Amino acid sequence: MSPERRQFLGWGAAAAAGAALAPGFSLIELARARSPQEAASKLQRWGLLIDITKCADCDACVTACHEENGVASHGRPETDAQWIRKVSLRDKRTGYVQTLPLMCQHCEHPPCVDVCPTGASFKRDDGIVLVDKHTCIGCRYCVMACPYGARSFVHEPVANQKPEVPRGKGCVESCTLCVHRIDRDLIPACVEACAATGHKAILFGDLNDPGSEISRRIAEVATVEVRADLRLDTGVRYQGL
Ligand code: SF4
Ligand code: SF4
Repeated sequence: MSPERRQFLGWGAAAAAGAALAPGFSLIELARARSPQEAASKLQRWGLLIDITKCADCDACVTACHEENGVASHGRPETDAQWIRKVSLRDKRTGYVQTLPLMCQHCEHPPCVDVCPTGASFKRDDGIVLVDKHTCIGCRYCVMACPYGARSFVHEPVANQKPEVPRGKGCVESCTLCVHRIDRDLIPACVEACAATGHKAILFGDLNDPGSEISRRIAEVATVEVRADLRLDTGVRYQGL
């Protein structure tokens, strides 16, 4: 197992020991786990609630995401990877404009996974949709299948990778919900950065836990999925949209 692979799986020294691999236990099964000792569980479904009314004219979430995951600009915006971006929606009739952060929506029924010919796109049991960089062949079917434009193809050689977030030229990538942080019981970098600005527009939590703050908020206020008509059951919901 390469160092990059071990770090992608987020295990560091535990995986380096290699001892936890039971006979017949494949790498893709390990990629679906929180650690060698703990499988991702269907009991949880990680998600985000984004309150557009609190989302300000800043890009703290974008900056934090790209810093956390080592996504740097190559000076050519048209081919730079984007894991999260601020988009503006304009009501054609009234001219009313809303701005919101958009990232992988971690769909319950992800088209990117359906079309992937190698199984590189996959959904963990806890709802996080990921790309296994070791089996991605760069065909970009998933890029075409994703209705949110959430996936990026890496055109340039990647330098200064973060140990826990391996990236590679010729692979496709998208928001991982900061899975390497979640598996350490930390919140995603965008959520932390937004809170640090004082806007607190993004809430992270377990959508399957009725007692979690995100579930209680969703039960109290009207929220929507972007392109709910597609019935993908997104893990990212929006308030005030
Ligand atoms: Fe896949 Fe796009 Fe859905 Fe993310 S938003 S799970 S990349 S289809
Ligand atoms: Fe799967 Fe990679 Fe092709 Fe996307 S680009 S469909 S992840 S093999």
